[in-house]
Amino acid sequence: MTRVFNFSAGPATLPEPVLRQAAEEMLDWHGSGMSVMEMSHRGKEFIAIHAEAEKLLRELMAIPANYKVLFLQGGAIGQNAFVPMNLLRGKAGADYVNTGEWSKKSLKEAGKYCSVNVAASAEAGHFTSVPKQDSWKLDPNAAYVHICSNETIGGVEYHWTPDTGSVPLVADMSSNILSRPVDVSRYGLIYGGAQKNIGPSGLTIVIVRDDLIGQALPITPSAFDLKTQADNDSMYNTPPTYAIYIAGLTFQWLKSNGGLAAMEVHNRAKAALLYDYLDSSSFYRNPVAREDRSLMNVPFKLRDDALDAAFLKGAEERGMLQLKGHRSVGGMRASIYNAMPVDGVKALVAYMKEFEASHG
Ligand SMILES: *Cc1c(COP(=O)(O)O)cnc(C)c1O
Repeated sequence: MTRVFNFSAGPATLPEPVLRQAAEEMLDWHGSGMSVMEMSHRGKEFIAIHAEAEKLLRELMAIPANYKVLFLQGGAIGQNAFVPMNLLRGKAGADYVNTGEWSKKSLKEAGKYCSVNVAASAEAGHFTSVPKQDSWKLDPNAAYVHICSNETIGGVEYHWTPDTGSVPLVADMSSNILSRPVDVSRYGLIYGGAQKNIGPSGLTIVIVRDDLIGQALPITPSAFDLKTQADNDSMYNTPPTYAIYIAGLTFQWLKSNGGLAAMEVHNRAKAALLYDYLDSSSFYRNPVAREDRSLMNVPFKLRDDALDAAFLKGAEERGMLQLKGHRSVGGMRASIYNAMPVDGVKALVAYMKEFEASHG
């Protein structure tokens, strides 16, 4: 068996111990005689798996008691609609900060349900930075302020938490959730798909402050009403049971590796290896403002994009896959989530040097 270094943006690489444990438990989970996939979501075995996953996530993120943790479906793109449906609370509009492709999708979808105020946008600078908070034009009557904490395509990340006063802050954390500690109490709602930094696709995590639940628009589908799901412990309909189980194993892995503070150190070290090399080279280029660079997704371009195919082919021959950049921006992108070992980044940098030496 050969495992590659998988730099995919998502679904993405997972911790090997998690995959091994899942393989061992595939046919018989803890003497139940069943695979987790085959269990009733209402049986005592799965209820225990679900409760353990929630407990671990609460512990890892230090989630305050007045927040609900929901394990839903529909992805982050689903949340683009569920957030306004649930959080408008009688208000006419919401504030959105536009930092790239994912924020743009969010605000476009929200426009179906409310008036959208683009409080700040990095579009004029081709989405290479996070607009400073003193440039934001927030509406004091907004239902909430929405940000994307890490733009997976552009490689732009918030390294600070916006201050939105009494207006709830909502964040799409799909691609940097659990990569470092965050102060959950600064947010009204946090959401993210699991397939970047947690587990298989199909699971959407929602962390929401209690007082924001229960005022959904009447048209909100019951399965996506935060109150219906909160009242039913995310089991109003069948939850994505196997994805929740794998997420629980990943949470356990994070805990046994020192939790989020240790993950931040690991992630900063990996990102520094790559950015330091990019900055030292005139052959490769990352366009993002230094203080806003993502620790998770590192886009870069070669001096001549005619060399892209050769670069990707050589990477593949060396067991480094999925480095092609998103089709909307081109170039390369290395996604280096929690589960990417430092050796993967070292191998990538060594290959980049070798390629530069032979093509530069
Ligand atoms: C991947 C991603 C999405 C899309 O998530 P789906 O699970 O496909 O709905 C949305 N936002 C961000 C920041 C992402 O990285």
